[in-house]
Amino acid sequence: MPSSIHDRAVLHNGVQMPWIGLGVYKAEDGDEVIQSIKWALEAGYRSIDTASLYNNETGVGQAIAESNVPREELFITTKVWNTDQGYEKTLAAFDASLERLGLDYVDLYLIHWPMPGKYNETWKALEKIYNEGRAKAIGVSNFKQHHLEDLMRDAEIKPMVNQVEYHPRLSQEKLLAFCKEQGIQLEAWRPLLKGEIFEEPTLVELADKYKKSVAQIILRWDLQNGVVTIPKSVTQHRIEENIELFDFELSNEDMTRISALNQDKRNGADPDDPEFYKQFE
Ligand code: NAD
Repeated sequence: MPSSIHDRAVLHNGVQMPWIGLGVYKAEDGDEVIQSIKWALEAGYRSIDTASLYNNETGVGQAIAESNVPREELFITTKVWNTDQGYEKTLAAFDASLERLGLDYVDLYLIHWPMPGKYNETWKALEKIYNEGRAKAIGVSNFKQHHLEDLMRDAEIKPMVNQVEYHPRLSQEKLLAFCKEQGIQLEAWRPLLKGEIFEEPTLVELADKYKKSVAQIILRWDLQNGVVTIPKSVTQHRIEENIELFDFELSNEDMTRISALNQDKRNGADPDDPEFYKQFE
């Protein structure tokens, strides 16, 4: 369990990944995303999670270029979007992402969704990118256990990370256990359920007990479960609040109470829903 902002998750290839990062989905390209990243870096964040889908890689790159933080201290993640999957298209999409980011490597490149019939070829492109040193780590997103098993059957490199929807209403205990067993780091997207769970009585009670905010209680639960987390905010005080997680510890009993809020309920798409993928064919 991380005990300070400086602790890192160690991926199976030895790369170190910050336990907490700034999510920038729906942060507008230009001033909004640049300012959010500036505040985040000042608050001690070193990890930024973007994607070509988010249309803000240019702003993310500009914020990096304008910061005084050395490149090697930063951990930049981006993702290949569904319409770009397949071997050649992924290689081209990666080049375009690097170009927009103004970088010569990313720290983590992810397959955004397990596009049926395509993700195995996409993975071969990620392996090539990794072998060339243009991504320090590669991984997947929205993969269930069966997707991971299928991918690993003919992969040369095991994914280092699986970024999935994860919050107290979707605690994914089986997937987390499987990933831990495999040495694949689980990473939580939409960890705060966009704020929709902030009124939940157990969480409100725990926030009161620990003198922290509900957001901090949830994010601390992620960390104590060994899950990397990437809350999003474009508001300075929330960005700061979301990384102030290292001055308290949830008891085992309270960890269990939060986990008991699970309803296996998704906010985003189900990675097994064929209807979801039709729009990308
Ligand atoms: P989130 O759960 O991080 O919620 C963000 C929202 O919660 C903010 O817009 C704000 O309204 C509120 N909030 C944040 N901090 C708060 C605080 N301290 N107090 C009160 N309200 C607060 O949702 P998200 O942005 O969807 O997910 C986080 C990140 O995960 C994204 O930005 C993106 O980087 C990533 N993501 C990945 C995928 C994927 O398919 N891989 C999908 C969705 C999101």
